[in-house]
Amino acid sequence: MNIFFDVDYTIMGADGSLRQNTAKTFRKLVADGHKVFVWSGVGVRTAEVRRFGLADYVTKVFQKPLEDFEAALPGLGVFTPPDFIIDDHPEIVRFFGGFICRPYYFRNRQDTEMDEIYQTVCDVAENGTSEHTAYRAGKRRAQEDT
Ligand SMILES: [Mg+2]
Repeated sequence: MNIFFDVDYTIMGADGSLRQNTAKTFRKLVADGHKVFVWSGVGVRTAEVRRFGLADYVTKVFQKPLEDFEAALPGLGVFTPPDFIIDDHPEIVRFFGGFICRPYYFRNRQDTEMDEIYQTVCDVAENGTSEHTAYRAGKRRAQEDT
């Protein structure tokens, strides 16, 4: 799958820290044959991807659409269909499908979100769905099924 991660409050906190287990999760997803992309509503965050040592795992960094999600993709240079979105902002996850993550603000050793995200991607890759309460199938996928 093409897996798109948001930046602010998804992989990066308000304190500028990288969410626990992000690099490990990216590495595992790539090893499983997925493609990992990073996008952000405020711009192309290549500097953050490099600073956190994620560049080896990330296929490409994009700006994220904030409305008209599907129609806006070509204008942002996104020609890879987003299959699975991880974002603290529910709207885009509800549209494309994926995982609505708990917002990450500050470094927190108790945070298990990345492990849950990885498991949910594995479920969806294997069974086409997940029982996790944060999983959304997405409107686009639902339309394709009809
Ligand atoms: Mg965010």
